Amino acid sequence: MARIHILGAGTPTPTPDRFGSSYVVEVGGETIMIDCGPATTHKMVQAGLWPTDVDYLFFTHHHFDHDVDYPCFLLSRWDQSVGKENILRVFGPKPTEKLTDDLLREDGGLFAHDWKTRVNNPSSQQLHVNRGGTLPRKPPEVLAKDVSPGKVFSGMHWEITATEAEHVQPYLDSLAYRIDSPEGSMVFTGDTQPCDSVVALARGADIMLCMCWDDQDIMDNNGEASRQCGTRGAADMAQQAGVKTLGLVHIGPNLSRPGKKEKGIGDIKAAYEGDVIFADELLVINV
Ligand SMILES: [Zn+2]
Repeated sequence: MARIHILGAGTPTPTPDRFGSSYVVEVGGETIMIDCGPATTHKMVQAGLWPTDVDYLFFTHHHFDHDVDYPCFLLSRWDQSVGKENILRVFGPKPTEKLTDDLLREDGGLFAHDWKTRVNNPSSQQLHVNRGGTLPRKPPEVLAKDVSPGKVFSGMHWEITATEAEHVQPYLDSLAYRIDSPEGSMVFTGDTQPCDSVVALARGADIMLCMCWDDQDIMDNNGEASRQCGTRGAADMAQQAGVKTLGLVHIGPNLSRPGKKEKGIGDIKAAYEGDVIFADELLVINV
């Protein structure tokens, strides 16, 4: 059975319980991360996972609430590795390759000063050896690739497909992803307004994690209904796609409040026949 760990179920607005987007999927003996928003690495450890467990990372888009912990994750994963782990593979719309290179490249990378120190400083070398590593310590190595809609990658027992999500183009490209496996099918909308491409991607999936910023009635009145989903937008997409379960994520501060949450779930259940999960951070979903 595939498992989804909800690490980040919030938005760019920090709250005590939610901040940014990130999910980890355990499927077919491999571990995949979708997005890497604020404090992802720390939440991952709180969830009982470890940075070196993750061999694949897929970005939906490069807003900070989806990628700001990327340098922290890259450096932690590298620092905790003993040189026997798989090379991390990272996929996402532009500028995934540039961002990775800008963070790590030896000449002028924003965090090159950190890893170069740990590679060369004797006490850092000793820590590495004590963890089971050997010297000389290797610099971080990451295979990053800019991707567009279509089949993106096949793992041992899963494959992942992307489609265009409608968010903040033309400033940034956004993708939604679908993972198919014998253990189930999972869709991650990323940030999007209701759109046919994401409905087509999600058709018949076991679960769709869909962004849900706020109560649709509020969004329709305050001008926030475009380029993102609210309660009714998420429900309509889930109903049209016929997904078995709708997991609400990327939930804004208003909708998480007591009373607002129950009203929102009620509105969703009026428009969507499947199961609804109002996802909290550190929730584990068995698909
Ligand atoms: Zn977002």
